[in-house]
Amino acid sequence: MFSVVSGSLYAADVDLWIDSSGSRERCYVSHGHSDHARRHVRIIATPQSAAICRSRLGGEIAYETYAYDEGFTMGEARLTLFPAGHVLGSSQLQIECERGRFVYTGDFKLGETLTCRPAEVRRCDLVLMECTFGRPQYTFPPREEVCAALVDWARGALDAGQTPVVHAYALGKAQEVMAILGRAGLPLMAHGAIDKLARVYVEQGVALPPYARYEAGKTDGHVVVMPPGGNSAPILAKMTEPRTAIVSGWAMDSGARYRYGVDAAFPLSDHADFAALLRYVELAQPSKVLLHHGFKSFAHELRRRGVEAEFLEEHAQLTLF
Ligand SMILES: [Zn+2]
Repeated sequence: MFSVVSGSLYAADVDLWIDSSGSRERCYVSHGHSDHARRHVRIIATPQSAAICRSRLGGEIAYETYAYDEGFTMGEARLTLFPAGHVLGSSQLQIECERGRFVYTGDFKLGETLTCRPAEVRRCDLVLMECTFGRPQYTFPPREEVCAALVDWARGALDAGQTPVVHAYALGKAQEVMAILGRAGLPLMAHGAIDKLARVYVEQGVALPPYARYEAGKTDGHVVVMPPGGNSAPILAKMTEPRTAIVSGWAMDSGARYRYGVDAAFPLSDHADFAALLRYVELAQPSKVLLHHGFKSFAHELRRRGVEAEFLEEHAQLTLF
């Protein structure tokens, strides 16, 4: 029923491509990040993801939108989108047919989030999940601890007359960082690329704190949120004593500050950490786990725990059911 063709997942029975990297007639798009959302003739997504795709991909794409839990049928199968907790509008796809229940997680994160619906985990027979942080060293500290450290760092820089610059991906992470810093009462300034998507968030009903759009020469007294670019970004040369930070799960790596060329690194991610990946499998109780987008060794971690698991290779031709 399901197969992987040239690295993209294809559900043959319902003639549906899933987060395909190539352009398709009709494709389900789990969320708006560019490695998942490509231009297709027709995109199936949540209304929020469609709004993000419209903003990022431009016109001439037809959208077929389904709210979370608004089921729809394709052939003999019943499909449902449900929250993935990754970025605004991100969804997991559930396909139910007589052979069982299949869930495609897309990118997901468990636990609290200020800017999108928290992820749900559903019982299923077969799951295809991402395992970006599928190694034990990527077990993140408690979220509140990381948020407090980020706020303290930014406030400390402002108090010292410096300009704290937080690097965060323009879709999702940046808006979450703005919500965290805004909740602490810190004055915010957002780079244009982030502002563009923040507007979509607000249009879609997400409460973001007030912020100013980035303007050169006006950054004093603000926490500046901008896409990753490191200390070499020319924009920084126009700021008073910039101090930079990256907000990413990869901050768990000891070399993260060096790799990103920043002064500080905070391990806040929109992906599940190692512990959450294991928790997902415990809760979903699938008879088989298929993995992609991450460390292949996570399949061994699951098998060691008695779970049937297999890493899906890029060019596998595989019938899942
Ligand atoms: Zn993503």
